Amino acid sequence: MKAKPTATHVHLETFGCQMNEYDSELVRSLMKQDGFVFTDDRERADVILMNTCAIRENAHNKVYKHLSELRKLKQQRPLVVGVLGCMAQNLKEELTDVQPLIDVLAGPDAYRQLPMLIRNAMLSQEEGLDQKGFAVDLSEYETYHDVIPDRLDGVNAWIAVMRGCDNFCSFCVVPYTRGRERSRDPEGIVQEARRIAEQGFKQITLLGQNVNSYRYGDWDFAKLITAVADVPGIERVRFTSPHPKDFPPSLLEAVASHPHICKQIHLPLQSGSDRLLGLMNRTYTNKEYRALVDRIRTLRSDIVLSTDVICGFCGESDEEFSETYRLVEELRFHSAFIFKYSERKHTIAARRFPDDVSEPIKTERVTRLFNLQRNISYERNREYLKTTVPVLVEGNAKRSAEQGMGKSDGNITVIWNKRAISSQPGDIVSLAIYDASSTTLYAESPPVHESSAPRPPQNHFGKLRSKTEHF
Ligand code: SF4
Repeated sequence: MKAKPTATHVHLETFGCQMNEYDSELVRSLMKQDGFVFTDDRERADVILMNTCAIRENAHNKVYKHLSELRKLKQQRPLVVGVLGCMAQNLKEELTDVQPLIDVLAGPDAYRQLPMLIRNAMLSQEEGLDQKGFAVDLSEYETYHDVIPDRLDGVNAWIAVMRGCDNFCSFCVVPYTRGRERSRDPEGIVQEARRIAEQGFKQITLLGQNVNSYRYGDWDFAKLITAVADVPGIERVRFTSPHPKDFPPSLLEAVASHPHICKQIHLPLQSGSDRLLGLMNRTYTNKEYRALVDRIRTLRSDIVLSTDVICGFCGESDEEFSETYRLVEELRFHSAFIFKYSERKHTIAARRFPDDVSEPIKTERVTRLFNLQRNISYERNREYLKTTVPVLVEGNAKRSAEQGMGKSDGNITVIWNKRAISSQPGDIVSLAIYDASSTTLYAESPPVHESSAPRPPQNHFGKLRSKTEHF
């Protein structure tokens, strides 16, 4: 038997959602245990892995672009190329036929096999063979409960509490790429939360494709999130992504009353039309969704609500789009992810419903809804003016190292001048808000020479995306 190669350098790129980021932490952990070394430098890498997303069209396109770049690199030197995650699972034939440069494919339930697949691919290359390693079987049981993710530094740690999804929303590929829903043992999750607190993280985000349908024995999601929020040292607990059908009173009460559970709920709407909600298999009506929002806001009016909306789903008429528009106008979310419908291979919608709304109409509807939401987000954010907001400090603002950046309890970005306010990542500081755009709150007292006149709405209110997604 050949000796393991030493110091094999791996470059891992992640595309898509938070669940994929989390899976990359699992992959790093599993591979480091096996002696692999990670590098940020693609030029130095012996192995290049892409953890991919089949849900987001942008991520999908980026992966294909990267693959064509890698073709050149692979002609110059020995290199193992691996595609992991949802695209590996969903597009295996396409990827291997169209992209013969791929040596390893591993679906979301096959990461434990990755070190072996990569070693085999390296040996095969050394011996001049063209042997590929594919592992794309879905599991009913795999939750990686015993793998401690290799987390990057920061204030937030993710914990995946369940994997897969049984909902089969007709537009969504997740049940096919990530398999059936299964929840992790709650004791293991709480233990992991304790370890995270000891490592100094201040916030935990509980992840799952349909996170609030978590169920393990007599533990439901309300019991789980409360137990995690009770862990000493954890200041904030968030969760994503929930389904509107899984909000029993116990969960709403936990969110409303527990001091460490953030007052923020992401509540994917997708459409305001009952006919389309039926075609999407969302299992709620416009009226039921509205009633849930009412219940949440009656419990606590300060809970920040965000949503996802799909424009131009199969057969969406002008009037059906108007129903969505009116509902978004009425419910006044703090922010929204607005997507153009884009057909995903293997989904129920792809098999049963023609993608028959034209591209210009989809664009026009997305733009109208986007403009509406941008103005609502702007008005919502300006409700914080002259209030004091507790902010979890994350670090420097993206645009300037002289500005600090953190998040409000409701997950709204807050920016301030570091010369005026001193803080460290992980601190929770109370900041006075003096200005707001559609995406950001600005803290600190305005300098005397600067006008504090209201800013016009900024060019974006969050994220405008061109396709369906869940995270
Ligand atoms: S949209 Fe969410 S709830 Fe629906 S099938 Fe996809 S992952 Fe499951």
